[in-house]
Amino acid sequence: LSASYAPYMDEKGRKAGIVMVLQDITKRQELDNMRKEFVANVSHELKTPLTSIKSYTETLLDGALEEKDLAVSFLQVVNSEADRMNGLVRDLLQLSRLDSKKVLWNKKNSNLVKIGQDAVNKMEITAQNKNQTLSFITKYEFLSVYVDKDRIEQVIINIISNAIKYTPSGGHIQVQVYRDKNYAVALIKDNGIGIPKRAIPRLFERFYRVDKARSREMGGTGLGLSIAKQIVVAHDGEIFVESKEGIGTEVFIKIPISKKKD
Ligand code: ADP
Repeated sequence: LSASYAPYMDEKGRKAGIVMVLQDITKRQELDNMRKEFVANVSHELKTPLTSIKSYTETLLDGALEEKDLAVSFLQVVNSEADRMNGLVRDLLQLSRLDSKKVLWNKKNSNLVKIGQDAVNKMEITAQNKNQTLSFITKYEFLSVYVDKDRIEQVIINIISNAIKYTPSGGHIQVQVYRDKNYAVALIKDNGIGIPKRAIPRLFERFYRVDKARSREMGGTGLGLSIAKQIVVAHDGEIFVESKEGIGTEVFIKIPISKKKD
């Protein structure tokens, strides 16, 4: 609460009282804190790979360059840290475009069954590389949704990619597409490490990760789910998570069934 006050005069110019203005600034302060935290997070996330790039290049310049094998392994680290920074900047740019509503949506009547199937096809190799099964299950041929299909596919791919990352090798990932009342739903299920109950409400916050070290190791930025949420919400949809630690995770993406004809 912020308070400001001023004396109040009567018509003869004598002090007659005090006018006091009380203002609720909690909302403003909250926003301010979120902004500060965001900037701190971005700086930290960019600084970590930069520090590593710098120290490896310095070591190379100090003579490690002479040892071919060592040099190659150092350069591989430099390369993958540069990839990480690239990924982070790409995610940040996308968030900023979504925030400033500068995204041009290419919405059309599309088939969520096809979008789900395409996403699964594109992730098959990644799952195979980790010895995981990735299956697609539906009893529908067509569920009509009015969406930007590339972006919805991107969301599903992102969720499948999380399922792969946070499920040990040998695990099972399943994508289901079905109808629930006026929604078409894509459900991505895994039998991975799961998410502690207390963390579930925070998953869609920017930079939130249950286990920072593990996410970083997997190449995560902690921005994936917040981007996914913005995209789904821009389609009047919903996204939510149910999970049990040690059992697995289910992510539901619900998009309204469209009635419009193209
Ligand atoms: P990240 O880039 O770290 O994967 P996300 O925004 O995509 O960021 O996800 C946020 C966090 O949610 C992850 O760091 C991870 O802790 C948790 N998470 C997301 N998906 C899963 C999943 N399928 N199983 C377990 N944990 C998950």
